[in-house]
Amino acid sequence: MAGILDGKTILVAGVTMDSSIGFATAKVAQEQGATVLISNFGRALGITRRIAKRLPSTPPVLELDVTDDEHLAGLADQVREHLGDDAHLDGVVHSIAYGNPETLLGGKFLTGPWPDVAQAVQVSAYSLKALAMAAQPLMRPGGSIVGLTFDASVAWPVYDWMGVAKAALESTSRYLARDLGPDGIRVNLVAAGPLKTLAAKAIPGFEELDAMWATKAPLGWDNADHEPTAKAVVALLSDFFPATSGEIVHVDGGFHAMGA
Ligand code: NAP
Repeated sequence: MAGILDGKTILVAGVTMDSSIGFATAKVAQEQGATVLISNFGRALGITRRIAKRLPSTPPVLELDVTDDEHLAGLADQVREHLGDDAHLDGVVHSIAYGNPETLLGGKFLTGPWPDVAQAVQVSAYSLKALAMAAQPLMRPGGSIVGLTFDASVAWPVYDWMGVAKAALESTSRYLARDLGPDGIRVNLVAAGPLKTLAAKAIPGFEELDAMWATKAPLGWDNADHEPTAKAVVALLSDFFPATSGEIVHVDGGFHAMGA
C-alpha cells in the first residue's frame, strides 16, 4: 500500500529512548514509506544507536548537538556520508528541548537564573532556526520542517521557564515560515498534550499537568500513546498540507478548545 511519505527522506532530530516522541515519529514515517535518519547528542548517542534497532528498519544515527556550530555546519556532510553525494532532505523534525529542571521548572519561575534561561531558549527555540539553516542546503526547493511544542499561549502550573522557551519556539516557527516560504519550505508545529517521556519525567510536578488532561480533554487522553502526535507530525511532513505554514496543530484530545 502506498504511504504518504513514499520517496521522501526525513531527518528526525531528538531521539533518545523508544519513549521519545521522535522515536514514534520515526516509526510512523518509516511505515509511511520514508527513508529516515535520526540524531541525538553527547553521552546518550550510544543509547540512541541501540534504540534505533527497534525501528522497523534501522536508520543511520547522526551526532547533532544543536548548540554546537561545528555539528550544525557538518550536518549536510553527515547526511551525505550515509545517503550519498546527491542526498537531499524532504523533511526535518525538531523534537528537542531542554530546561534545567532544578532551577527553571516546578515552581521556579521567580528565581530561574538567566544563564539557565538562556540555555533553555537556545536549546528549545533558537535551535529550530539553527537546525533549519543547517538542513537547508539539503532541502530541494520545497520541504517541510515540523517541531513540537506545549501550547505556550497560556501560563501553566510547573512548566515555568519551559513555557517561555516554548513561546519563543512558536514565534521562531512563524518567522522561519516567513523567511523560508519563498523557497517552498513549510514550517509548522504540533502542540501535544502531556506524554510520558524522559523530558516529561524531568519536570517536577508533571502529574499536575497530566491530571488536568484526564478530566478536561473531550476525546480523552492517553499519555502513553505517542502515535496520534507522531501521525500529525508525519501528516505535516507529507504533501497533504501543501499550503500550510506558520501553523500550530493541537494534538491534545481537544483540551485547548475547552474553557473548563
Ligand atoms: P525526549 O525523549 O527527552 O526528547 C527530547 C530530546 O531533546 C532528547 O533526545 C534530548 O537528548 C534532546 N536534546 C536535548 N538537548 C539537546 C541538544 N543540545 N542537542 C540535540 N538534542 C538535544 O522527550 P520528548 O517529550 O519526546 O520531547 C520531544 C519534544 O516534544 C520536545 O520539544 C518537548 O518539549 C516536546 N513536547 C513534549 C511533550 C511531553 O509531554 N512529553 C508535550 C509537548 C511537547 P538527551 O536525551 O540526550 O538529553
